[in-house]
Amino acid sequence: MLKTTDFPPQQALIGGDWVNSATTLEVEAPATGEPLTRIARCQPDHVDAAVKAAQQSFAGQSGEWASWSARQRSEWLLRFADTIEGHQEQLAQLECADTGKPMAQAKGDIAACARYFRFYGGAADKLHGETIPFETDFAVMTLREPYGVCAQIIPWNYPSQIFGRCVAAALAAGNTIVLKPAEDACLSVLRLAELAVDHGLPAGALNVVPGLGSEAGAALASHPDIDHLSFTGSPETGTHVAQAAAQHHVPVTLELGGKSPQLVFADADLDAALPAVIKGIIQNAGQTCSAGSRLLVQREIADSVVANLCERFAALRCDAGEADADCGPLINARQKAKLEERLAAAKADGIRVAAMGQLAPNAPTGGHFVLPQLLTDIPKGHEVLHEELFGPVLVVQVFEDEAEALALANATDFGLCAGIWTRDGGRQLRLAKGIRSGQVFVNNYGAAGGVELPFGGVGRSGHGREKGFEGLRSYTRIKTVAIKHN
Ligand code: NAD
Repeated sequence: MLKTTDFPPQQALIGGDWVNSATTLEVEAPATGEPLTRIARCQPDHVDAAVKAAQQSFAGQSGEWASWSARQRSEWLLRFADTIEGHQEQLAQLECADTGKPMAQAKGDIAACARYFRFYGGAADKLHGETIPFETDFAVMTLREPYGVCAQIIPWNYPSQIFGRCVAAALAAGNTIVLKPAEDACLSVLRLAELAVDHGLPAGALNVVPGLGSEAGAALASHPDIDHLSFTGSPETGTHVAQAAAQHHVPVTLELGGKSPQLVFADADLDAALPAVIKGIIQNAGQTCSAGSRLLVQREIADSVVANLCERFAALRCDAGEADADCGPLINARQKAKLEERLAAAKADGIRVAAMGQLAPNAPTGGHFVLPQLLTDIPKGHEVLHEELFGPVLVVQVFEDEAEALALANATDFGLCAGIWTRDGGRQLRLAKGIRSGQVFVNNYGAAGGVELPFGGVGRSGHGREKGFEGLRSYTRIKTVAIKHN
């Protein structure tokens, strides 16, 4: 049970100090709709101060961060991974209360956050440049340099995981950070920032400016003194922030949504595939950019697969907190209303709800629950087939053969993930090459969230890569040094 002392400061972290904002925002518990605590509502002047603090820390006059060697950064990141693990219980409770996700998932998210710090801690001193053969009287090398001040705007669905993914990589590469967490869920992020400062991260290396997207977020994305912008969230907001950053020629990594397909062929191992299909859509109540939200199933097994999935969906229980249910609530009333409106429209268009999960008898009242559901009989081209619903809703389409499966898989502007379930090795490779997406998983979905694996999208899912060594490189730029000698 959370105590009031567990809550992080209702302030912004700027230059190593916790700074008040004139007004605050209420944070609500998605499981009950009740108020949980308040957070700072930062304004452009906070963002400006945070960018200045990050600049100073990076530029070195007063900044200790700039004087840290790669080895020192590595050692701090590795120690911080231990710190996170030491606070796993408290951080998971905050995450669970703040996002509504079941406790087991919240604990997994904190464990993943620690893994990011361990992975990037191990990588910080292995970020090599190259030497390049050129004319005989030249020595040429490339240096991998940090950008400087990295602006990071992150969403509410995986606050601690995305904190780990972005912050650990940017710090490992030697950058400083101004982070704008999401107003809907950022308590674990604030607590992680507090722990980082308490455990010796130099002032200004990490600054956190909570607040509204239209205020703190917009001020950060358009700030002339940021050197890199990483954004995770909706395609619409991604477009806004990319346009704002382009005014100052700031490079941008965009991690946007998805409408990722799971392709199940008649020769698939269904005992492995079907639980993964379910998990791929109910994890975090479907509020996952990489959710496997489209099931493409081959004609000869379609009826039996749908029947099997109907039984599995009917057995799903929605609840919150320690109950460790299959599926928690959505993040807020707005997301719930948006999804319910689209589901009502789908029903009116003749789409069938083939199965639905249930609310656990003791689930809290007032929570933003939407029951997991399986939609079939969907007219060609219907919006539920190509728009991100961001909820626990799986849509089913039937294909005849590999060519049709590939065409359906690619019939969306998104391109984040795909799952392929087949025992045919040639088909695995042909589809892995043919599918237009940043990640393809064969006979698994999500590769157990591997922090080591580069992650990102194509098309409307965004561009640039986070996670893995590729994610570390993306927080650096190359400088070429060409030395002419006698
Ligand atoms: P959003 O994209 O608007 O918010 C993400 C982050 O951007 C938050 O920190 C927010 O404060 C900030 N932001 C919002 N407007 C901004 C602006 N004008 N300038 C700078 N920053 C801004 O997402 P949302 O409104 O919370 O959710 C809407 C939809 O976004 C969801 O239904 C879902 O489809 C999608 N979404 C996707 C992801 C993902 O991981 N890909 C995460 C969250 C939401």
